[in-house]
Amino acid sequence: MSFKAGFVALIGRPNVGKSTLLNNILGTKLSIVSPRPQTTRMRILGVKHLPDAQIIFLDTPGVQKGGDLLTKSVMESAVASMESADVIVMIIEADKGWTKEDKEIVENYLKKYNKPTILAINKIDKIQRDLVLPLIEESTKIYDFKEYVPISAIKNINVDELIETIKKYLPESPPLYPEDMITDLPLKLWIAEIIREKVFFNTKQEIPYSVAVEVESIKEGEKNKNLLIIDAIIYVEKDNHKGIIIGKKGQMLKKIGTQAREELEFLLGKKVHLNLFVKVKERWKEDLPLLRALGYNQIS
Ligand code: GDP
Ligand code: MG
Repeated sequence: MSFKAGFVALIGRPNVGKSTLLNNILGTKLSIVSPRPQTTRMRILGVKHLPDAQIIFLDTPGVQKGGDLLTKSVMESAVASMESADVIVMIIEADKGWTKEDKEIVENYLKKYNKPTILAINKIDKIQRDLVLPLIEESTKIYDFKEYVPISAIKNINVDELIETIKKYLPESPPLYPEDMITDLPLKLWIAEIIREKVFFNTKQEIPYSVAVEVESIKEGEKNKNLLIIDAIIYVEKDNHKGIIIGKKGQMLKKIGTQAREELEFLLGKKVHLNLFVKVKERWKEDLPLLRALGYNQIS
């Protein structure tokens, strides 16, 4: 049997479960998962190695509205991943059905790129089984999807079936990436995403999407090679946000730091010293050099 390899763009509005699905498929924590939407800002590439195929996933950020540089860069990376994709997997939520935004994605992207597209209907654990078929029927009227695969990314229902379906539409090709590669996301950005996730989980609604994390340096311990010393800055837009992130007597920052450190130690298999700093930088979303440093380098 011949080998297949190709690129897959995951597309769907925020919160449909793109990151959860990707993490489930890759079995590694790569893209950030959050109970709130719009936490994935950059294109994250993950590679699934199978005996007879290599699937390279492009995790596109949810489609967002807004005119600032950050939003534009998010949109550009979404467009870039669709352009380079061999197959598009569009995700909708079973319990919500087709929303207006979902339909906009079909109009603005699927119809434009006209690539083989698979519809993954996620979160079927949330609905009754007999509601799945009517939803598929409705979907056939919205776009000419190649396939319809009901899944639950979180409960791992039918995810293997989705992988098999994707494989059908990949071109024959030798592997495109070395076998030990799971992501091309640079280590600094990957660590920053993990820290940012902890900020999100701990600060609830108080902190809007105005937090950025920059990992300044990663050094090995001088005597202990098994130790990583990581310095990172949490940028906020306002003084009172800084107060919230630091918390009473520094409690909040300590909690964020501990959670991030524990996860990093687990994922990297090393001891970690994590030094977190909080800085106020008004309008960081409009600061081009800073955005570049944060990895939003799609902006031209
Ligand atoms: P993204 O914005 O599309 O990347 O969505 P996320 O992967 O961050 O998921 C958004 C929320 O939906 C998180 O709270 C997930 O735990 C939840 N979620 C994802 N997949 C499923 C699923 O199959 N079933 C249920 N019940 N929840 C899910
Ligand atoms: Mg996501």
